[in-house]
Amino acid sequence: MMNSSDEQRSPLKPEHSTPATGPRLDPTIHRRAIALDRIDPDAVKVVRRLMKHDHQAYLVGGCVRDLLLDRRPKDFDVATSARPGEVRSLFRNCRIIGRRFRLAHILFADRKVIEVATFRKDPDEAREREGVDGGPALGGDDDDILIRMDNVFGEPDEDAARRDFTINALFYDLERSEIIDYVGGMTDVERRVVRTIGDPDIRFREDPVRILRAIKFASRLDLGIDPDVLDAMVVHREELARAARPRLLEEVFRLLRGGAAHRSTWLMWETGALSVVLPELAAFLDDDAPGARAVWQGLQAADEIQRSGRVLSDAVLFAVLLGEPLREVAQDADDPGAAIDGLLQPLVERLVLPRKVRDRVRQAMLVQRKLQTPPRGRATSLASRDFFADALDLYEVGVRAAGVAADSALEAWRAAQQLTGTADSPRPRARRRGGRRRRRVAAEG
Ligand code: ATP
Ligand code: MG
Repeated sequence: MMNSSDEQRSPLKPEHSTPATGPRLDPTIHRRAIALDRIDPDAVKVVRRLMKHDHQAYLVGGCVRDLLLDRRPKDFDVATSARPGEVRSLFRNCRIIGRRFRLAHILFADRKVIEVATFRKDPDEAREREGVDGGPALGGDDDDILIRMDNVFGEPDEDAARRDFTINALFYDLERSEIIDYVGGMTDVERRVVRTIGDPDIRFREDPVRILRAIKFASRLDLGIDPDVLDAMVVHREELARAARPRLLEEVFRLLRGGAAHRSTWLMWETGALSVVLPELAAFLDDDAPGARAVWQGLQAADEIQRSGRVLSDAVLFAVLLGEPLREVAQDADDPGAAIDGLLQPLVERLVLPRKVRDRVRQAMLVQRKLQTPPRGRATSLASRDFFADALDLYEVGVRAAGVAADSALEAWRAAQQLTGTADSPRPRARRRGGRRRRRVAAEG
């Protein structure tokens, strides 16, 4: 637990702050020295250069959360008082992205990106406070509070308040070794609980994708979910259908990546989110179909593989998730390929699942039986097909799910794969350069 002597209330008003537009919140300051060797040196450089030029600059969001939870952050984001143009003038390796909300990406070696975002506020609140006309944030009916824009600069407290969960809204001041907490996030990190900032009913209605994000953080970081937040997730699950579909699909893939697919899927099922996002799978699990157990075992096996650092493609993850229902429809079909496509087509339309992924899922599924017997000869034409790596990964998931320690066919096919040179070297998934934030804020419904 926190030592209260470590904590102090402080107005933390920086000298160079822009004039406040309303009553400012005071943060709680927690002294926390985070070892510098756990922080990306380029992120440190970016923060220091901004501060040297009299801007406020903090690490923010997922990286602070992960550092406090003793995990290695995936990437480092910086929040600053500097406007995007000012950031660009300080860094040669800087690119401004985003049309509605402009962000700076500072580019480093190995495709590394440090994202630098100017403090911003919730556009609705901005309009109330200042009469800003930012265009329609509300949809047709008065009940529709879906956020459609997010492009008003603000102060640190406003920037914290617009974020989704308290654990994601902490700032870290590198120079003073202090956590700046406007939302009670530090307590939630220590209690290991996911809690929305503010009323969960409102926050999930504003952006239903947050329901999946809550599931992701709870699963991946092994956290609990606050009971009121969990209730609100269940109540508002149907609203996931209103979310922008590309965001929905991306969030589903994020749930499946990173080694917590089993717990994520289970939580989606428990909350009812699964029946909105993937009704085909929810129905299969609800019916307690004979293959239901295999679905869970497959997800566990995929988690094991991913936790060992290997990357499974989106097609493989999707095939693991839907493999059992797909196998069932393909089993007695005259044309198994068409049967698989038939089951996937609503997903292609509903979730805008790329056709390329659908085709890969089908191709990988159709050769599973073939992979059960070792190849004849040194290499076969199958091993040189472009879908082979995915097909073999899917087969390996199946082998592990069945609890088989060593499968001679798997080993032989892996060897054939090496010979044809089609083995995908396991690369860490690169941070996306651009697009992500814009999609996140532009929930077209
Ligand atoms: P991850 O480790 O998965 O990248 P993250 O917390 O960094 O986790 P991102 O999706 O990269 O998550 O988003 C960065 C930050 O932006 C979050 O920590 C959160 O503060 C804020 N954020 C992201 N999505 C939303 C959202 N839908 N609503 C409000 N704030 C959000
Ligand atoms: Mg992130």
